[in-house]
Amino acid sequence: MTAPVSLAWLDDAAEKRRVAGLHRTLLPRTSGSRLVDLASNDYLGLVRHPEVVAGAAAALRRWGAGSTGSRLVTGTTAEHELLERELAEFVGAEAGLVFASGYAANLGAVTALGGPGTLIVSDAGSHASLVDACRLSRSRVQVAPHADVEFVETALATRAEPRALVLTDSVFSADGDLAPLQALHRVCRAHDALLLVDEAHGVGVRGVGGRGLVHEVGLAGEPDVVVTATLSKSLAAQGGIVLGDSRIREHLIDTARTFIFDTGLAPAAVGAARSALRILREQPERATAVLQRAADLARITGVDAPESAVVSVILGDPTIAVGAAAACRERGLHVGCFRPPSVPAGTSRLRLTARADLETADLDLIASVLGDVLAEARV
Ligand code: PMP
Repeated sequence: MTAPVSLAWLDDAAEKRRVAGLHRTLLPRTSGSRLVDLASNDYLGLVRHPEVVAGAAAALRRWGAGSTGSRLVTGTTAEHELLERELAEFVGAEAGLVFASGYAANLGAVTALGGPGTLIVSDAGSHASLVDACRLSRSRVQVAPHADVEFVETALATRAEPRALVLTDSVFSADGDLAPLQALHRVCRAHDALLLVDEAHGVGVRGVGGRGLVHEVGLAGEPDVVVTATLSKSLAAQGGIVLGDSRIREHLIDTARTFIFDTGLAPAAVGAARSALRILREQPERATAVLQRAADLARITGVDAPESAVVSVILGDPTIAVGAAAACRERGLHVGCFRPPSVPAGTSRLRLTARADLETADLDLIASVLGDVLAEARV
């Protein structure tokens, strides 16, 4: 018998990450945790809402634990189709198609709408799932400097490909800033391109009653705008969706590989997302509250007023950011800590996310802990 292949290179790679402050550890949550959560994406504070849990439980009891197959075979329940219609109606799109995750929705949409003969222009700050989607799509890809509409226009105007697809997040996940959607749409219109907008951090936060940034800037229902979103942030569940013209839905059903070859989303997640959406419709003030709490977090940490739920406190060095996050945790605050490759080198940070249900007592604790921790970290 020959020896198994050596895994020593993994030790070397791990050591390099440790030295660079880029080693990661999993920190399991404990169900009775008293930590104030400033790290999750549960923007509307709905993940434990009794109606959301009941929605999941009802779907679980009715349809079982798993969806049992691909959407095209046995993995579509009435619940999936209802969520697709309800979410499409909510954001003002003609149709929706649920995927197993937001990541799969982006991979599926971009690969099905791209391919040879399509130029893709993607913002440099686009989410990793869009980056991977570009790579998988076998399109020619141009990465536009962040929010650089002129670059996008030149790329579209000078292309040889008959079709083009422009990709951007609506709310960028690391900095929480907004894409120039109207200007991007104008150049897409002028140059026969589709605009695909990832609203993972926009739905539930921006727009009237949380209908998203695309809705807010008046682009809802435009046939040349495709929206992707996750069900795992404001909608407190799991899964993803592509929203747009019904011909796009048809095209994805027939050609999106992450739709065709992936098992359908578990019914409980669909039931939870439907309940969360119902609550958001009935209580639109939850969306407003997220932005108000984000403004509170920005004031406490002395950073610019945020445009979304994401408040980034840049500390620079990854070791300092990790130390600050650990100090917060010891004093009862769970904050996000973003380091390369999630953010550019030199911009490691605490990433705080606002939740609609943060209370005054939480904000008092946050002010006290972050006041001390940031004073030390920023020295
Ligand atoms: N897009 C963006 C902008 C995201 O932040 C995320 C989740 N981190 C995703 C897509 C992927 O969504 P999901 O977690 O549902 O796969």
